[in-house]
Amino acid sequence: MQIQDYINAGRIASEVRENARKKNHIGSTLFEICESIEKEIIQKGGKCAFPVNTSLNEVAAHYTAEPNDQKVIKETDLLKIDLGVQINGYIADTAVTICHDPKFDFLIQAAETALKEAMSVIKAGTKSSDVGKTIENTVKQMGCIPIVNLSGHSLERYTIHAGKSVPNIWSIGSFSFLPTEAYACEPFVTTREGLGFVREGNTRNIFSLVTRKRTKDPETDKLVDYIWEKFNMLPFALRWLVPTWEEKKARDLVEKLVKSKVVRSYPVLIEANGERVAQAEHTFIPQEKGITITTI
Ligand code: MN
Ligand code: MN
Repeated sequence: MQIQDYINAGRIASEVRENARKKNHIGSTLFEICESIEKEIIQKGGKCAFPVNTSLNEVAAHYTAEPNDQKVIKETDLLKIDLGVQINGYIADTAVTICHDPKFDFLIQAAETALKEAMSVIKAGTKSSDVGKTIENTVKQMGCIPIVNLSGHSLERYTIHAGKSVPNIWSIGSFSFLPTEAYACEPFVTTREGLGFVREGNTRNIFSLVTRKRTKDPETDKLVDYIWEKFNMLPFALRWLVPTWEEKKARDLVEKLVKSKVVRSYPVLIEANGERVAQAEHTFIPQEKGITITTI
């Protein structure tokens, strides 16, 4: 494990996240927000570990701007900015929820407080079920409910979801946190009117390579080589192909690759009762006493 790369990626991710938190996004398009954050990551010497996610309101996760996405942020929008930075494949994954209308502060506070509480109970050897219990209790005490089918995850080099789930509720089946591994913890919370789980929506605008298997079509093979070279097996957006391919062409080729299962697409995840969702996220490495939060 390259601790220094994790630390450096985390520092960039946290600076970029804090700049996004401070900014007034009203009137900006999702395209502008994604592109400016991704540009900032690169200017600071990192690479994007995945397209910046800008999921709005009842969309909990997995929305990134379409090429030229003209959706504009309104005062009442609850905007989750989830960003990833990688250095040599070592990833920092962090998120902040922004709303310019104080009416939704309670949701943001519940997510932030649950994350903070979770961070305070973890050290090497802590059981993941205890972290889930801490998050669930905190969120409920604050008058909200956790999203049960979204969770944090272990991280590996060039792999965002490396197999272990860091739960947001008390759950059976548990692992102990290792000091040799990095993890992301990410409470998602909704209102008491929510059902507390997400379902898949129809929009899919984040993709990743599944295999480098040849397709027998020189055009799609060229795209597979490009994706592998630029993004490895990490997620990418159509936006990222558009400087090289014309938008319609990029769409057609990616669709072909999804059909042939060379590329996977990620559906947006929507609160099942259409209630608003807030999220907070940090990446951390457990220690014998406490943890190192790389994205603090
Ligand atoms: Mn994230
Ligand atoms: Mn994550």
